[in-house]
Amino acid sequence: MADLILFNANVLTMDPLHPKAFGVAIKDEKILSVTANDGLKRWKKMKTITIDCKGQTVLPGFIDAHCHLHAVAESHVTLNLEPHHNVRSISDIQSKIRDASQKLPSGAWIRGRGYNEFYLAEKRHPNRWDLDQVAPAHPIKLTHRTGHAHVLNSLALKIVGISNETPDPPDGLIDRDLKTGDPTGLLFRMGDFLSRKIPPLEDEQLDKGIRIANDELLSMGITSVQDASSHNGIEEWKMLRRWKEKGFLKPRVVMMLGTESFSAYRERDFKTELDKTQLRLGGVKIIIDETTGHLIPSQTELNEMVLKIHRSGFQACLHAVEENTVEAACSAIEYALKKLPKSDHRHRIEHCSVCPPSLAKKLASVGIMVVTQPSFIYYSGDRYLQTLLAEELKHLYPISTLLKTGVKVAASSDFPISPASPLMGIYSATSRMTETRKSVLSKEKMTPKEALKMYGETAARATFDEGIKGSISPGKLADLIVLNGDPTKVPMNEIRDIKVEMTILNGEVVWEKF
Ligand SMILES: [Zn+2]
Repeated sequence: MADLILFNANVLTMDPLHPKAFGVAIKDEKILSVTANDGLKRWKKMKTITIDCKGQTVLPGFIDAHCHLHAVAESHVTLNLEPHHNVRSISDIQSKIRDASQKLPSGAWIRGRGYNEFYLAEKRHPNRWDLDQVAPAHPIKLTHRTGHAHVLNSLALKIVGISNETPDPPDGLIDRDLKTGDPTGLLFRMGDFLSRKIPPLEDEQLDKGIRIANDELLSMGITSVQDASSHNGIEEWKMLRRWKEKGFLKPRVVMMLGTESFSAYRERDFKTELDKTQLRLGGVKIIIDETTGHLIPSQTELNEMVLKIHRSGFQACLHAVEENTVEAACSAIEYALKKLPKSDHRHRIEHCSVCPPSLAKKLASVGIMVVTQPSFIYYSGDRYLQTLLAEELKHLYPISTLLKTGVKVAASSDFPISPASPLMGIYSATSRMTETRKSVLSKEKMTPKEALKMYGETAARATFDEGIKGSISPGKLADLIVLNGDPTKVPMNEIRDIKVEMTILNGEVVWEKF
């Protein structure tokens, strides 16, 4: 007997052996049968719940292979300064801060995130004086869209102890006024320092934020996420476990560890009573950075870090954006495989933003997976077109080339860096169009079906979960979504207008459009 039956549906199973069906029967959180309408009768008993899909499209739940849940929770309880939230000038930022300051007692922190100087009329970062103008009695911290730069007002600088006598930290930079030497409030790569000095948000606030995020994710059809935060450790794990246990966060989560906590890793610290399909560890995140002009970590350090992860049986997930860093990531994985050969290791490169065909071939031959962010084309494409070198633009997010070369590519949003909507990502991957309708490397367009697979089977594969997720097949987890349009049939421009009507997770309807 089935617990739940969906019928009269246009089921795109994403299972190459049986690509189409009309109905799905679900039992005990799993898919029981995928069949024609007639085939469902035998599973239907008195207590079975039935849903008439009226011809609508049913797909496997979307999987987001790279996002940042704690930052997402924070983003919902701090000021959202992203361009698509109508923040297009420094005075827009000022008016949001002014509004917030009127609701808070003096001395209370005001936090904002996601500002993007490229889309601000002034084409510059805000500074301490801009912020002092509107709320001098509240300490203010703004976080840049990348998370790698922050702006503090004068009171906040005083609280964290930064003055014109403060030297630059080893890996960071304190921006200064050229004439006076006074800090401008803009700080680069000092996030760790700030998080030690500025009180964190209260758990209650984060709980509120994750519950909003939960609704958002489910409304977009996301049933699984992979948390790729490089600071993840035991505290983040405990928070995720609490959110899952309390039912605040429904999508399944695989959490990567940061390198620091991986060094201190003890299996017993990361125990949970929850089902492993709901929450577990997977992968170790390393950031490879070359913004200072040289690689951090160095190639030798990186090789040893990856080897250690590889030997321990974990997946290495290497953040690499520029061609040089992608090359370094590839060499480090090759190095580890030479020391200890292993097939199907599934080490990953996160982003892999600039990758010429020769390097793509190398990734394929080493068996490296790529986790890409198609909707960056839409949300950041205009910035790329104006600021990147021609040499970089030629090989920017070459997703189709990667696929043709044999690299397995999973999709993600990097939420909250860009909005999480997979349908927007699928539109971006198939159209290669920016927000202002300019084309970015149109030869890298892919079919909607290829794009769907990146948010399904391949994203599942990125955590060794393709046996239980990513297609609507008997025995797999019952994570399904109902859409009001078929992404493989509607005109390309309409893909982003398709709406999720219903999200089913673990055999249960967890979200429904009113
Ligand atoms: Zn990220």
